[in-house]
Amino acid sequence: MKSHNINIQYTELEVDELSGELLKLYQSAKKASQTAYAPYSKFHVGSALLMDDKTVITGSNQENAAYPSGLCAERVALFFAGAHAPQSKVLVLMVYVPGVNRPAAPCGSCLQVMAETEDRQSNPFKVILANDERVFMMNDVQALLPFRFGKRNLLS
Ligand SMILES: [Zn+2]
Repeated sequence: MKSHNINIQYTELEVDELSGELLKLYQSAKKASQTAYAPYSKFHVGSALLMDDKTVITGSNQENAAYPSGLCAERVALFFAGAHAPQSKVLVLMVYVPGVNRPAAPCGSCLQVMAETEDRQSNPFKVILANDERVFMMNDVQALLPFRFGKRNLLS
């Protein structure tokens, strides 16, 4: 029997410490949260992707009375990027959630899509989780989903 440990590393900042393109990305995600359609959860999430051509793609959660039909802010932005800029790479994914006492992590389904996006573009991207006060920065999706399921699990 073997026991293993997985350590993740992330950086914690105050929102006031953000500058330059990361501050702009934070502001984009915050603005996007205002377009959330969240009459059921009241959880207004905004996401913003910094692409390798320096464009920003935003998303917000879109709920539905048939709950599974809704979609999280992260996947709204990632699928939009896949549909409209399939050749571009995601450099940073920012997720903003107001009114929570600590930055919220993406759900399991979003983590899976984030992992597939990294695989698809053959390049890791930074993940930044934010609320109104603090920011957690990870260098890649691996930090949040070390045992990802991917096409390598399907093809042998
Ligand atoms: Zn999600």
